[in-house]
Amino acid sequence: MTDILSSERIPGLVQASYIIAGVLFIVALAGLSKHETAKRGNIAGMVGMAIALLATLLLAARNASYDSSGRVVEVLGMVFAAMLVGGLIGAWKARTVEMTGMPELIAMLHSFVGLAAVLVGYNSFLEVADHSGLGGSDKVHAVEVFLGVFIGAVTFTGSIVANLKLSAKMKSAPLVLPARHLLNLLILLASAGLMVWFMLDQDESGLLPLGIMTVLALFLGFHLVAAIGGGDMPVVVSMLNSYSGWAAAAAGFMLSNDLLIITGSLVGSSGAILSYIMCQAMNRSFISVIAGGFGSDGTVSGEERDYGEHREVQADEVAELLAGAKSVVITPGYGMAVAQAQYPVAEMTRKLREKGVDVRFGIHPVAGRLPGHMNVLLAEAKVPYDVVLEMDEINDDFPDTDVVLVIGANDTVNPAAMEEPGSPIAGMPVLEVWNAKEVIVFKRSMATGYAGVQNPLFFKDNSRMLFGDAKDRVEDINRALG
Ligand code: NDP
Repeated sequence: MTDILSSERIPGLVQASYIIAGVLFIVALAGLSKHETAKRGNIAGMVGMAIALLATLLLAARNASYDSSGRVVEVLGMVFAAMLVGGLIGAWKARTVEMTGMPELIAMLHSFVGLAAVLVGYNSFLEVADHSGLGGSDKVHAVEVFLGVFIGAVTFTGSIVANLKLSAKMKSAPLVLPARHLLNLLILLASAGLMVWFMLDQDESGLLPLGIMTVLALFLGFHLVAAIGGGDMPVVVSMLNSYSGWAAAAAGFMLSNDLLIITGSLVGSSGAILSYIMCQAMNRSFISVIAGGFGSDGTVSGEERDYGEHREVQADEVAELLAGAKSVVITPGYGMAVAQAQYPVAEMTRKLREKGVDVRFGIHPVAGRLPGHMNVLLAEAKVPYDVVLEMDEINDDFPDTDVVLVIGANDTVNPAAMEEPGSPIAGMPVLEVWNAKEVIVFKRSMATGYAGVQNPLFFKDNSRMLFGDAKDRVEDINRALG
């Protein structure tokens, strides 16, 4: 065993494996950009991760055989024990999590990456400080440690707040502290000053600036995300995804692990690109969202306005309407995920298409609670990809549409975004479903959506409400369609 581990070839083999794994991760990302190739992308990612794990284990064993006077079995035993515990918890969570619980789970996982970067940073600092003190070329290492801990701490508390907001354990309305932008700026400036102090301090006394910065960064993460409310949370979730990538890349620098640097950068940059795309889709400025709810005064309007009376409809009437329609557009939202209505919706689509009705789907970029949430559900229920269109592709077609079925969507079809400048969702592009001849809204009550604003769509002359659980109501329609 020790003979194999002492082979000169091992570092080269590990590097080659890291490159192969890195390429497979890029192939995975490319695959995930399209429905048709998403499965293949996932497989490439899994194979890459398996190769990366094996190579890392090999490297850990080799390092242990050198550094720890042959304590290979002990070191590998610890690594396997950690992998076993983590793997079991991960497998249990993956099996038990509901689709509706995915966004908050992902936010929680981001917080772990942040925490890991903070711990690696402290460990890395204490190791160097113990042996030789920080000096000379170690200054670069000091910057790595400082930035790694900073990004990690912001990601940690920011992701915890995102988790609490997404799971409705914390109000989704923005927390608006007086002079909040000034506060954020002061924290950034103070952290920059602390970094200079940290770099000048050559030994363990560097722990003081590092510790103060950690507390400030933990508060900054909390404050940045708590200040964001209404419909802007999706951008924050993908921003935190990006931060978690940069935190991992920073950990890679501290540990001199190339693969962690590559993987972290891939996550960081793809998360940043996604955030940018989502900002464009939401008509928000990237900077204002990451600066924490800039431009929002924190009020949630709409609730108190009187929009008039709504009208109700029954499932069998809707079935009749659908059977007589030429074109139908379905705009699903978070409620479809809650009700798990995607299977009966797919069944209804099949039945209507068999009757010659043109059925298409209009997907808003932030529908649900995860980017791509609706696409995943519809793909799971085997709805053909070619009838699933994005908001921009379908918005002009509503005036020629006979019936729109709004299934568990609310904010993403809210005309207040276009008509009420004071609304927290003002300026956000929405699916203009009210331009169709008839609109049927599936939901359980007149309650507001995620942004907490009332929806004037429900009171329009061409809208009718079909109350109840979306799955039950769509099943009723399927029965009536025969
Ligand atoms: P909304 O969250 O605005 O509304 C969902 C509606 O579904 C609710 O009004 C609710 O009404 C209804 N509903 C809930 N359960 C059921 C059920 N079992 N059967 C029928 N209806 C149900 O959804 P949208 O998808 O339109 O908008 C998404 C919102 O979430 C946006 O504000 C977006 O910014 C935000 N967001 C999106 C993220 C993303 O990445 N996509 C991440 C974080 C936030 P009722 O209770 O009356 O049934």
